[in-house]
Amino acid sequence: MNYDYDLFVIGAGSGGVRTARMSAQYGARVAVAEEQYLGGTCVNVGCVPKKLFTYAAAFSEECRAARGFGWNSGSPTFDWPTLIKNKNAEIERLNDIYLGLLKKAGVDLLNGRATIVDAHTLEVNGQHYTADKILVAVGGTPFVPDFPGSEHAITSNEAFYLEALPERIIVVGGGYIAVEFAGIFNGLGVETHLVYRGPLFLRGFDTTLRKSLEENYKKQGITLHFSTEIESLESCLDGQIKAQLSDGSGLKVGQVMYATGRIPNTRNLGLENTTVKTTSNGSIVVNEHFQSTESNIYALGDVIDRIALTPVAIAEGMVLSANLYNNQSLTMDYDNIPSAVFSHPHIGTVGLTEEQAREQYGDDIAVFESNFKPMKETLGGGHERIVMKLIVDKNTDRVIGCHMLGDHAGEVIQGLAVAMKAGATKADFDHTIGIHPTAAEEFVTLRTPNQN
Ligand code: NDP
Repeated sequence: MNYDYDLFVIGAGSGGVRTARMSAQYGARVAVAEEQYLGGTCVNVGCVPKKLFTYAAAFSEECRAARGFGWNSGSPTFDWPTLIKNKNAEIERLNDIYLGLLKKAGVDLLNGRATIVDAHTLEVNGQHYTADKILVAVGGTPFVPDFPGSEHAITSNEAFYLEALPERIIVVGGGYIAVEFAGIFNGLGVETHLVYRGPLFLRGFDTTLRKSLEENYKKQGITLHFSTEIESLESCLDGQIKAQLSDGSGLKVGQVMYATGRIPNTRNLGLENTTVKTTSNGSIVVNEHFQSTESNIYALGDVIDRIALTPVAIAEGMVLSANLYNNQSLTMDYDNIPSAVFSHPHIGTVGLTEEQAREQYGDDIAVFESNFKPMKETLGGGHERIVMKLIVDKNTDRVIGCHMLGDHAGEVIQGLAVAMKAGATKADFDHTIGIHPTAAEEFVTLRTPNQN
């Protein structure tokens, strides 16, 4: 059977674009359909603008600390429209780069929403296309629970394009996005309230770091409402929003931002015209080869229920394209995937938390920990602390977890993730000479384990 394309990719985000480009480079005839922007969530309403906002927010603290080093620049002021304008220009530049990459690889880009007509046919802007294989890489979208007044809440999507910063904001949730945005808004001078239903944010991360970030956030002036939920939101005549909290208190704020998880974009995609199975939250069920229950339809990235991180989607795309069009039989390795939370300060983490390690290894682990004041704070005068933790399997001496809270934690942990992937032992860490004076050198000078 002759198809228009060997591979038709729905969604030009990180996973879709990488799979399309690699497959085309291996010789496949590839099309990508995208209804919105090139680069997906990460480039447009995720990692990239978030990191730019994180830089912006950190300058308030930098300006304050600079005085201790002799700098006096008066009272710095912050202009939100300038940040948004410059951020938007940078994103447009990246959108163009993505376009160039697709063109250079010989991929056909179709601007429009693709729907699946049957297992080999798609429709875009009223036109039909046929394909041997289809990749669904449509990503996800923020999820806001249904409750009275939920229509007054914004999500991270809107936060990236706010016309003005509110004086006061509530951020709801306790995951990556809520914690990052709470730090961002607070750093930009917004009175910030974080409302989280659990007792301590960042569930699943190492408790020592979570507690230390809690202390840092309190000192920075963020009001943490843990074990609290929002019962209702009401729009006021003055344009503000009144939030009723489950502890009986009320808060009047300019914006309420929900960061309560994301759901896959699988609605109205035409999946019902195929035998593709989805889970109760709409994510596509795939096997280890990213193959759905319809054998020629594949899915990867945030639309499958695995790990919602850009580099993971890219790695999945590399595996899939090599297997389909370069005669390889690779599988994706999900072990020891490092990640960072761009809170203030950052968290970097790879491997098992202490709690996970105790569950798996019982008392056969050694935990090394350090908690100290960053050198910059000695003159800068801040209250920040750096926390580091190494978890070691006592039987093999292998390092099974590395965690850091502190400036540039993501940069430090990226390097340690390589060491862990290579099977580094605590002795390897100990034999490594530190770089002085850095915070990261602490990871190779930790000598005394915690008492069990
Ligand atoms: P997460 O899944 O990380 O966190 C969702 C949070 O919302 C949790 O604290 C959860 O609480 C809470 N929550 C869920 N449902 C409700 C509800 N109905 N009412 C109240 N609270 C609720 O989602 P995010 O939106 O923060 O991020 C999505 C994903 O995007 C992340 O998992 C991550 O993979 C990725 N990401 C990565 C980043 C990075 O690498 N730096 C940055 C941003 C996103 P509970 O803990 O009790 O379940």
